[in-house]
Amino acid sequence: MELACQLPQPFTAAQLEEACKTERISTGTVYNCLNLFIMAQILHAIERQRGRTVMEYELIPANSVKMMVICQKCNRVSEIHDKAIARLVLERKYTNFEPQQILMYIYGECKICRKKEAKEAL
Ligand SMILES: [Zn+2]
Repeated sequence: MELACQLPQPFTAAQLEEACKTERISTGTVYNCLNLFIMAQILHAIERQRGRTVMEYELIPANSVKMMVICQKCNRVSEIHDKAIARLVLERKYTNFEPQQILMYIYGECKICRKKEAKEAL
């Protein structure tokens, strides 16, 4: 966890593996920990297009709202900042629960895919 925090965000499993080599942490342990951190909502994994599909990991900051838009056609992921929604969500109070991390995924179709579709329709 400490090593993951020291890496530039987002990072790949290979980058974490490299950082773990100096501590003699095995590849298996790295992947087990990544899955554990995802389940514990400490990290989130996002598939990104960087010329090819790459799985990246990012720490979820405490007490924050993270919003991502995901294209269902090309899997492009972008982070969006909507202060109005973030404020609204953070102001919500629940009697039996205290939110610490809020993730919002908005699925749809990106501008590029919509343009492609419009051209194909001609
Ligand atoms: Zn798209």
